[in-house]
Amino acid sequence: MIQVKGVHKSFGKQQVLNGIDLTVEKGEVVVLLGPSGSGKTTFLRCLNFLEHPDDGEITIGETRVDCKTVTKKEILQLRRNTAMVFQLYNLFKNKTALENVMEGLVAARNIPKIEAEEISRKILDKVGLAAKYDAYPSELSGGQQQRVGIARALALNSEVILFDEPTSALDPELVGEVLAVMKKVAKEGLTMIVVTHEISFARDIANKVLFMDGGVVVEQGTPEEVLFHPKEERTKQFLKRIL
Ligand code: ADP
Repeated sequence: MIQVKGVHKSFGKQQVLNGIDLTVEKGEVVVLLGPSGSGKTTFLRCLNFLEHPDDGEITIGETRVDCKTVTKKEILQLRRNTAMVFQLYNLFKNKTALENVMEGLVAARNIPKIEAEEISRKILDKVGLAAKYDAYPSELSGGQQQRVGIARALALNSEVILFDEPTSALDPELVGEVLAVMKKVAKEGLTMIVVTHEISFARDIANKVLFMDGGVVVEQGTPEEVLFHPKEERTKQFLKRIL
């Protein structure tokens, strides 16, 4: 479903990604771990060209692009196949939960309003927000807002969902409800790449864990291998700090 080869990215003189390779099968959940500043978010954003990689090749579904020669049309194709959930939910404050979910369908997918509304209601039901269709973001808890964020990504019906630290802005007691929704989504066979420090999520749900540091993948493997039997010193030190 996803194949990444040799992705490089610099900001000015600072090299942030130094040759990332990754293969993700359809339906797999991959967790990206690593210290702050190691390039996790940048890598995620490179996958759908929210950041433009300097070099490398990215394949998502049927679309393969060379980062050096990529066209606007190819970028749009990649984005059609990838939805993103952000750390801060970025909801429209003057729109209800239902309208927030509908927005992408109407604006980006040209789906008629009535149909978009029906799809959006079903997806809000799925993330446990059936009672909140008409609530504005200010009337929702952080966990509920993030579930609207996830609903918005799901509504786009992409095959791949990228999660960028989806629970890190939440109060600890609200993290569980968001992780529960993510687990449910994972079980439905969506392909997911998740940047998170939630080790329990990685342990229970991930098929693969990647540990990044300094813009490279230091170590990757099953959760058992990387979390509980890490081989590399940098991975061991990092896990010691967060476990
Ligand atoms: P992580 O997600 O692992 O914390 P990031 O990908 O956010 O790491 O950042 C990696 C490095 O790239 C950091 O040093 C950060 O300051 C830098 N960086 C990220 N985005 C930008 C940007 N838009 N402009 C300049 N530097 C950036």
